Amino acid sequence: MKWGLIGASTIASAHMIGAIRAQTGNTVEAVLSSDATRAREFAARHDIPHADTDLAVLLGRSQIDAVYISTTNEKHFAQAMAAIAAGKHVLCEKPLAMTVADARTMVEAARAAGLVFATNHHLRCSGAHRAAKAAIAEGRIGDVLSMRVFHAVMLPEKLRGWRIDNPAAGGGVIPDITVHDADTVRFYLDEDPQRVVAQALTSGLGKGVEDSVMSVWTMPSGIMVQSHESFTHPFAGSGLEIHGSKGSIFARNVMTQLPTGRVTLVTAEGERDLAYDSYDLYEFALAEFNRAVAGHGRPAADGIDGVKSLAVAMAVREAALSGRAVDADYGG
Ligand code: NDP
Repeated sequence: MKWGLIGASTIASAHMIGAIRAQTGNTVEAVLSSDATRAREFAARHDIPHADTDLAVLLGRSQIDAVYISTTNEKHFAQAMAAIAAGKHVLCEKPLAMTVADARTMVEAARAAGLVFATNHHLRCSGAHRAAKAAIAEGRIGDVLSMRVFHAVMLPEKLRGWRIDNPAAGGGVIPDITVHDADTVRFYLDEDPQRVVAQALTSGLGKGVEDSVMSVWTMPSGIMVQSHESFTHPFAGSGLEIHGSKGSIFARNVMTQLPTGRVTLVTAEGERDLAYDSYDLYEFALAEFNRAVAGHGRPAADGIDGVKSLAVAMAVREAALSGRAVDADYGG
């Protein structure tokens, strides 16, 4: 598969170009930036044949089968719609769009065109999360009662641009991290959060957007979920806990881009670490995307997964702003 990169971003540089090139027969043909110098430098640094500044030019390259969209969040919608109109498969960064309605429109357009559309929710690809989920499915903690997600980190200096001061670009910890946690919870529990309450604030970094949020979600089954995201916590570590009627799972340092962390099962028999497969999370997502384009199965996280994670994040933000309980509106 031949790829076009829409966005000369950090995530494309750090993870996605490598993950694409790790797939047999996958190449990166072109990169799009709004700035000609940045496009040229990015293309030269990553050995990409074409550096474009006009989306129509990149999409007009007939050899390109699929695009990876990793611009700032407010650009995803228009770029994805143009890519779909040009007949390209789409792997889009989270949050898919600024509104659930736009996200639904993108996903529906791809479906109607017979194109694969995926959301780059990497956490559900992780071997650690998959091992923990398998343990739950095997009944090792009995009936799940509650889940806690800890995703309060220190935002690295180099990422402290639009994320902390630009609401129009989709800044704030809720669109940045809560979406990932929403997807992870949905992945574990196979159900969609119904109602949320939340509080958010700025605790040192955010200017005009929240940099910290805590929320509680009601699941249709009655499972309770508690979630914490922040940009300002240098030593909190990340993780999640799933508590059941016969045991608990404690997964530490697993809400990351790397295949790291420890997954511990605690039951009446005692405490034991769960083994898991360690591999690159983004390469896993790319492999699933390739399989879906070849007509086998679905992407690791598809478009509807991206719509739903955004809907939960939007409900969390509305609940925090209004001080009221808010039902997630999935728009479908
Ligand atoms: P970056 O800030 O690195 O890139 C976003 C945009 O900023 C780029 O498209 C680029 O515009 C512009 N830009 C890059 N460098 C500069 C610069 N030196 N000066 C001015 N503008 C610059 O964002 P991220 O890579 O952190 O995030 C991009 C997207 O990916 C977001 O949607 C984010 O939510 C998502 N993301 C997802 C992750 C995941 O694990 N799934 C992890 C990290 C981010 P242009 O393209 O026009 O050059």
